Amino acid sequence: MSSFCFPPGEQPSVAVAATEARFPVHRIYCVGRNYAEHVREMGTDPAHAAPVFFMKPADAVVPSGCAVPYPQATAELHHEIELVVALKSGGRDIAAAAALAHVFGYAAGNDLTRRDLQNAAKARGEPWDAAKGFDRSAPIGTIRPVALGHVRAGRIWLKVNGELRQEADVSQMLFDVPQVIAALSKLYELKGGDLIFTGTPAGVAALEVGDEVEGGIEGLPVLRHTLAAP
Ligand code: MN
Repeated sequence: MSSFCFPPGEQPSVAVAATEARFPVHRIYCVGRNYAEHVREMGTDPAHAAPVFFMKPADAVVPSGCAVPYPQATAELHHEIELVVALKSGGRDIAAAAALAHVFGYAAGNDLTRRDLQNAAKARGEPWDAAKGFDRSAPIGTIRPVALGHVRAGRIWLKVNGELRQEADVSQMLFDVPQVIAALSKLYELKGGDLIFTGTPAGVAALEVGDEVEGGIEGLPVLRHTLAAP
């Protein structure tokens, strides 16, 4: 048995419906520009928008029901409700036709974004890491295993303080789940434990301290969290 110079951190994990066993998080991949209306609201033409991939650290996950402290270094924190795919296995160069066999389950996630930092990074042609991959930037609901079915369509929505901010259907994704898995596996070796945030529909907007956020995808456990003081 190997030893460590000091005790390693806790394994990040996510709750799974109908079991005490938790999903161990390996990596968190995210897809940008995957709903046409959102591509337009961000100022890009969807006809010319290739999907963009970025990552968050595994320990950015926050369970449903938590208060997320307003993050440091931003004055414009945005919500982005997304369908999250949880993988039980992976590989490289996975064909789209074989991709769904690697899926463990699905959850609702909020791709919290420091929009002011992202806009500044875009303007300077710099990476998005600080805008996307910050501490506690990935609130995620309980995972529903695939035994209850794959998610190919269904309402995706987000409310802030009871007011509807985002509403679309996951069938409107420009690149569906099999295509996203196939494309990612051409860039990275995917593994069991990977989470993939598949992109947000239109309606992204700012959150404030005290806000109550609620979001979901038809058939999946609802994600709830609040925004607490820094
Ligand atoms: Mn997103």
